[in-house]
Amino acid sequence: MINNDLKKIYQKSKEDFYQELSEWLIKKSKKIIITANPETFMISEKDQDLKKILSDSNNSLVPDGIAIVKACQKLGINIKERITGIEICEYLLNLANENSYSLYLFGAKEEVIEKLVKKIQTEYPNIKLLGYQNGYIKNKDEMMEKIVKKNPDICLVALGIPEQEKTIARHIKEAKKGIYIGVGGSFDVLSGVKKRAPKLFIKLNLEWLYRIIKEPKRLKRFWNNNVKFLLKIKKLK
Ligand code: UDP
Repeated sequence: MINNDLKKIYQKSKEDFYQELSEWLIKKSKKIIITANPETFMISEKDQDLKKILSDSNNSLVPDGIAIVKACQKLGINIKERITGIEICEYLLNLANENSYSLYLFGAKEEVIEKLVKKIQTEYPNIKLLGYQNGYIKNKDEMMEKIVKKNPDICLVALGIPEQEKTIARHIKEAKKGIYIGVGGSFDVLSGVKKRAPKLFIKLNLEWLYRIIKEPKRLKRFWNNNVKFLLKIKKLK
């Protein structure tokens, strides 16, 4: 049931989550972080592999989308605030720079990842960048196997839902440590290729609207996931 998985979503503040992240890194823990939005749950209804990933108590789910926060509130699950993939990326890059953590980047188009690598090299010079790979290769599992062997402290994977979560989950057992997180379109924004919504849109919880205006082809995806998700929640209530 969707509401059992929703109960697993992190309920405390962004600051509390960041504190946990930094402790996991200090302790050299192994973690998969899933930035949950309606699409995550809608896909998991039909995709047993993703469902298993969401239900695994070792994995950490955070409320990426506003629809998740609102749906949980409707069901009496008290989520404090959104914790977005893009902000987690920014936090992790700063933390990695301060502590000279190692990093691997996997996903997005070649021009995007190259721009992001340049940015990291200039703005976060203490990060040990172990390598990077665009997300348009045939054998993503072979790549993830290689990444895990390099033993990064942090691995950001931008392949889209559910491929990023499933690719990580298939190989994490071989990892000795590391924060592995699926970050969707975050590389496109972090690299500067795409712009994040203006602050006002974010403040008014309308980031989803900005993304549709900018990329109207997202509308179908929005309907099939966010709208249907909210209707499902209404029925549950
Ligand atoms: N992507 C990729 N390989 C693929 C398909 C997608 O690397 O085979 C990347 C794509 O370039 C983009 C990200 O995965 O950077 C998915 O972004 P999207 O905006 O769809 O994710 P959202 O943030 O909406 O979940």
